[in-house]
Formats: sequence, structure tokens, C-alpha cells
Amino acid sequence: MPVLPASEEAISQAARALLRGEIVAFPTETVYGLGANARDANAVTKVFAAKDRPRFNPLIVHVPDIAAAETYAAFDETARKLAKAFWPGPLSLVLPKRPASGIADLVTAGLDTIALRVPNHATAQALLKASQLPVAAPSANRSGRISPTTAEHVAAELGDLPAMILDGGPCARGLESTVVRVTGETPVLLRLGAVARHEVEAVLGHPIALADEDAPIASPGQLERHYAPNTPLRLDATEVEPDEALLAFGPSAPQGALTTINLSAAADLAEAATKLFASLRVLDKSGASRIAVMSIPDRGIGEAINDRLRRAAKAR
Ligand code: AMP
Ligand code: MG
Repeated sequence: MPVLPASEEAISQAARALLRGEIVAFPTETVYGLGANARDANAVTKVFAAKDRPRFNPLIVHVPDIAAAETYAAFDETARKLAKAFWPGPLSLVLPKRPASGIADLVTAGLDTIALRVPNHATAQALLKASQLPVAAPSANRSGRISPTTAEHVAAELGDLPAMILDGGPCARGLESTVVRVTGETPVLLRLGAVARHEVEAVLGHPIALADEDAPIASPGQLERHYAPNTPLRLDATEVEPDEALLAFGPSAPQGALTTINLSAAADLAEAATKLFASLRVLDKSGASRIAVMSIPDRGIGEAINDRLRRAAKAR
């Protein structure tokens, strides 16, 4: 499994692999993605197989800019406003799919909508431009597990299943994109993510509701248990047992844990988001019988951090 620094040469090699129908892992500002040519059903099948991802869970298609996005989906005024405000960046838009989009049905799980994103990362952008392809890419981890924020995480998750892993260093945001559906009158927040709810609302000029998680069509990817380490999680911890690992937040963490990682001693939520998944991976390997997690303020990006922690804590 070649992990290659994301040089120009490695990126064009990765582009050629995509064009041959192979799958390639690459960095974005959110997490590492496992990409395939979105027009090639065979290639997309490899992504689902490598991740062991349920077929009903559609993929986000990555494109270099709004113009490319408009060839695959119908943008109304609201969609355009959101795209202009956040692209390139960690917002995915679920929009009506153009019938002649050429995107493989498997990508959209047979839905008549498509999720699109323009990533804000030099390597991802270079790969999209070199391949000239729409790239369907979920996070480069086994389905249900912690998302990778470094190339090493991808290698640990997927071994030699990807034809290549482009190493662009640790992801700046560390949380998946926020997913907003704009298919009717009112936009709907399908998944909390790296763009905070209030940032979306500021652009829309009104509040946005989070989709009902039980509604099957809303966002099939919002599986209850997800982002999960093997070690059980205990949320809202205020003290720790000696056999526990502690995922701390803020200046006053309780003492006495087997191992402690502080997501942000300065109580900075953006720093905590960036470090969340990598920290869970380290604590998962610490030999602790449980990971105690201090409570994180449920504001701004903290809302998405808490969403991930709740899913990670769901019992098997
Ligand atoms: P992942 O690629 O694992 O980060 O997940 C992509 C997210 O986007 C999941 O929550 C999917 O269910 C969601 N998604 C992708 N395409 C669509 C779509 N057409 N309609 C609704 N949700 C979608
Ligand atoms: Mg994922």
C-alpha cells in the first residue's frame, strides 16, 4: 500500500489510477477521503467493498468548483448562496440530480438527489483538476469506525485496499463536512459538521432545522452507531477511575486516569474538533477499559463534536 507524499508526480499518478477505475485515498480539510470515479459503477463498488459500507448510504461527489457542480445538480438561489459563501470548504449540498449527470446510481443510492462538495485543500483540488473527474469519496475508514485525519490512520484502516494513499499531513478541520439539503422551500440540516449551524444560518438569514434522524430518506448516513472506537465511551465525565482513559476538555481536567489527552486546555472548540478523531484512536489503544469524556459545550462546532461523541458512545 503505497503511502506517498502528495507531490505533483504522486498526484498525477493518483489521477491516472482514478481514470483506470482504481480507488485512491487523499487528504481534504475535513478528513481523508477514499475516492473513485463517480461515473464508473465498478470503481464505486470498490469503495463500498473496501469500507464494508451499506449500499443504501450514498456518497458525496467532490468537484473543483461551482461550475462543475452545476453540471451534476440543479442549484436554486439558496443553493447558490450557500455554495458561494462556503465553497471551497466543508459544506456538502444535497441537491436535485440532473438526469443526464452521468453519475453512477450507486453513488446516490438510487436517490434523485446528489451530494456535492468543493474541498478546500490543495491536494484534493489538484487531484480533481488532474483527473478531470467527479470523485465520489466517503471517509477512508471502515464503515462505522473513526474517520482518518492522517495518512497513517488510512493505512491502519484500509491496508492495501486503496491503490494509493496520498499523504498531505493532518487534516486542518478534523470533522466531516456539514450536509445541507436544498431541494424544496426550506433547507434542511442533514448532518452537523465542520461548518457550524450558526454560520449556515447567518448566510440563510433564518434558522435551519436538523433533520429528524428517524426519517429514512433524510440522511441514510446518519447511522446511530458511528465514528466508534472499540473501547466503550462514557460521556459527561466529571471524575475518572484509574482504569479509564480520559478525553479532557478545558483547563480543569480531573486527575488519576490511566492516560489523558486534552482536546484543548484553552477550551478552544476548533482545536478540539481538529484533534478529536486522532485522540480517540490513541486512547482506544491505551489499554483502558473505558474512555471517559468530559462534557463539551454544545455551541458552534461543539454541536458537531457532541454529535460524533454520542454516536461513538452508542452501545453495539
Ligand atoms: P460520508 O461520505 O461517510 O462522510 O457520508 C456522507 C453523508 O452524506 C452521509 O450522511 C450521507 O447519507 C449523506 N448523503 C450523501 N448523499 C446524499 C443524498 N443524496 N441524500 C441525502 N444524504 C446524502
Ligand atoms: Mg464516514
